[in-house]
Amino acid sequence: MREAKTVAIIGAGPVGLAAAAHVLEQGLRPVVLEAGSSAGHAVRQWGHVQLFSPWQYNVDRAAARLLASTGWNSPAPDLYPTGAELIECYLEPLATKTVLAAHVHTLSRVTAISRVGFDKLKTEGRQAAMFEIRFQNGQAPKVVWADAVIDASGTWHSPNPAGANGLRAIGEDQAAAKTAYGMPDVLGKDRARYAGKIVAVLGGGHSAIGTLTDLAKLAEQVPETRPVWLLRGRDPAKAFGGGANDKLAARGELGAAFAALVAAGLIAVESDFRVSHLIPDGPRLIVGTAAGCCGRHVVVDELIVATGFRPDLDFVRELRIQLDPAIECPVALAPLIDPNQHSCGTVRPHGARELAQQEHDFYFAGMKSYGRAPTFLMITGYEQVRSIAADIAGDREAAERTELVLPETGVCSRSMAPEANQGCGGVVFSGVDACCVGDANAGRADKTGCG
Ligand SMILES: Cc1cc2nc3c(=O)[nH]c(=O)nc-3n(C[C@H](O)[C@H](O)[C@H](O)COP(=O)(O)OP(=O)(O)OC[C@H]3O[C@@H](n4cnc5c(N)ncnc54)[C@H](O)[C@@H]3O)c2cc1C
Repeated sequence: MREAKTVAIIGAGPVGLAAAAHVLEQGLRPVVLEAGSSAGHAVRQWGHVQLFSPWQYNVDRAAARLLASTGWNSPAPDLYPTGAELIECYLEPLATKTVLAAHVHTLSRVTAISRVGFDKLKTEGRQAAMFEIRFQNGQAPKVVWADAVIDASGTWHSPNPAGANGLRAIGEDQAAAKTAYGMPDVLGKDRARYAGKIVAVLGGGHSAIGTLTDLAKLAEQVPETRPVWLLRGRDPAKAFGGGANDKLAARGELGAAFAALVAAGLIAVESDFRVSHLIPDGPRLIVGTAAGCCGRHVVVDELIVATGFRPDLDFVRELRIQLDPAIECPVALAPLIDPNQHSCGTVRPHGARELAQQEHDFYFAGMKSYGRAPTFLMITGYEQVRSIAADIAGDREAAERTELVLPETGVCSRSMAPEANQGCGGVVFSGVDACCVGDANAGRADKTGCG
C-alpha cells in the first residue's frame, strides 16, 4: 500500500488550520508551516478588532469535530468575538490541544516552492514529481517534500501602499516613522501615538472605517484628536455599506454608525483624494496629491494606510500559476469577487474546481485566494478547503458538492441599482452560474437578479 499523501499547508491562520483538519479527515498527512511564533499569527496583529461575523460563521466543521474530542466548549453562535478571542477560544486550542499539534510547525516561513527535479519550464513527468517546499526556521534552511500544496498564507503581511497608482507614494519610505498600515490599536496599545493628534486614515474599506470610528471615540476622550478620512473615490456613501440590509448585522451597523459620525462632522472628509507624495515636514507629514506644496494636500501628525492587501507571489514564482491580471486571484474566481462589479461578501460557494491551478495539486485558499479583492469571509475559506482536501484525496463527488449556505449580505453595490436584474450588475460570467448567493437562490426559483 502507498503511504498517505503528504499535503503541505502554508499558514496556520483560520483557513490553514481548517485545511489541516479536512486533510486529516480524508486520511492524508498535513504538514502546516507557519511563519509566526504561534497559530493565528496574522489575526493576532488585529486582535483588538471585533469581528463582524458571529461565531456561527467563524468555526470550521472539521475543526469543531477535532476540538469536540478534547472537551472543547464551543462559543455561543450569536456572539461576536474579537480577533484575540478568535485565537484564544478557537485557533489556539485547535492548533495545540488537538491531534493537529503534531502537524503544526511554527517559526517556519516558506521561502520558495518548486517540483523536485523540475524547473517551471519542464513539462514531461512534471505532474508525478513531488513538491519541494523550502522554509526558514531561524536555524538552517529546511526542505519538506509533499504530494500537494495548499497556500493559505493570507495577505496580511503585504499591505497595499499609499500611492493611488498602486505604487509606493514618492517619499513613502522616508515617511515610515509617521506611517502605519492596517488597523493599529488606536484605543489600546497604540493610544499614546494617536491621542491628541491629527490622524489621517487612507482607504474606503472596513479597516479604514473601523479605525476612523475608533479615532472618533478617542477624540471624545482626548478632544484635540482630529480624525481625517482620505478617500480615493468621489462618493463617501459607497463606504457606508448595506446598513440594515446587511445580514452580517455588525458590519451593517459599523457602516451606519460611521455614516452618522461623518454626517455630524466628527470626521473630516477629503474625497477624490489620490495620494502621490508623502513629505516629512518637521514633526508633521504632508500627504499630497501632487509634487510640491501647491497641489492639494493635508498636513497631519500621523497617517494610517488602510488601502487593502495584495498576495505575496514571490515564493510561488517557480510554479505554473495563472491569475486574473487585475485581482491576482485564480481566474475562475475573478468574476465572482471583482470589486469593480459588485461588493457582495456573499460569493457563491466554490471549491477545488475554481481554485485549481495548471500546477496540478497546488491550490490557493483563504484570504490569499481572493488576491486583492476585499470581501473574503472565513466561512467561504472553510468550504474551499473542504472541497480541496476531497479533491486531493481523489473524492471528486465531494470536491464538487456544495456544503455551505452563506449569509446573504445584500450589499452588492450593483444590485441596488434599479436596472440591475440580471445578477449583480447584469454581467454575464463565463463558466459561472451565479455571481453571489442571492443570485444563485433567485436562479433556483426561476427568477433573475440577486434576490
Ligand atoms: C481586520 C480584519 C477583520 C476581519 N474580520 C472578519 C470577520 O469578521 N469575518 C470574516 O469572516 N472574515 C474577516 N476578515 C477576513 C479574513 O477572514 C481574515 O483575514 C482571516 O484571518 C483569513 O484567514 P486566512 O487563514 O486565509 O489568512 P490569515 O489569517 O492571514 O493567516 C495566514 C497565516 O499564514 C502565515 N504566513 C504568511 N506568509 C507565510 C509564509 N511565507 N510561510 C509560512 N506562513 C506564512 C501568517 O503568519 C498567518 O498566520 C477580517 C480581516 C481583517 C484584516
